[in-house]
Amino acid sequence: MSIADVSGAGGEVPRSGRGAGNPAELTLRLAELIRKADSIVALTGAGISVPSGIPDFRSPGSGVWANVDPMEVAHIDAFHRDPQRFWSFYGERFQTLEDKQPNPAHQVLADLERAGLLDAVITQNIDRLHGRAGSQQVIEVHGSIASSSCLQCGGRYPIAEVRARQASQTLGVPLCDCGEPLKPDVVLFGEMLPFAAFARAERLAAAADLMLCVGSSLEVYPVAGLPELTLGSGGKLAILTQGSTPFDRFATVRLHGDVVEELEALRAALELA
Ligand code: ZN
Repeated sequence: MSIADVSGAGGEVPRSGRGAGNPAELTLRLAELIRKADSIVALTGAGISVPSGIPDFRSPGSGVWANVDPMEVAHIDAFHRDPQRFWSFYGERFQTLEDKQPNPAHQVLADLERAGLLDAVITQNIDRLHGRAGSQQVIEVHGSIASSSCLQCGGRYPIAEVRARQASQTLGVPLCDCGEPLKPDVVLFGEMLPFAAFARAERLAAAADLMLCVGSSLEVYPVAGLPELTLGSGGKLAILTQGSTPFDRFATVRLHGDVVEELEALRAALELA
């Protein structure tokens, strides 16, 4: 039985008290954990990009996802069945993501890495904002919008070229030089996670003294298995996200507020430039 199964079993479990306290105390506690840890990895989800104006598509009624079921339209079967319909939707999603800028929460994680306090960021986000904020070690376990590839010949094209090809085709489907439709290098529903990236994420999670979970509900497997790996090898969890997660009672520090405010307070507590 996994940890998530246990915590999902229902009923209020008595808190150990470790996660309790006011936000200022918890921030100091987190800063102390970070100073003491040898190996820290961050795990981020949609919540860290919401302040950049990117809605979490799991929240109903948001943006391009308002009138579609992402499970249906952003599915690998939908891509194969009807590339035109797929791209009419996904092209719009690309457009909304393309011009978004990193926010101070992304910036703080980049600062932590620069200060030698963070080994890597594992992200579920496809928006490239960690890299844009200056993070060097970014593992995009759901891929990213940076490129699209041909499933037939393996040809790969950067986003600008994909957009140009999309615009030049009457059906709006960007085509490979070989004539096949390109597929965004993001993990669609019904697809496996990129093996090498996920294997690296697992190694980092298992080796971490501390996993800093930011803006993820930690509910979507296999990514939700990563905090289990950290806990299983004796590491600690800090969870900064609004809404509950299956790992809340295992967290040494649990913060529920605004991720930008919380991470900026953390940066101040660590006295980072
Ligand atoms: Zn091709």
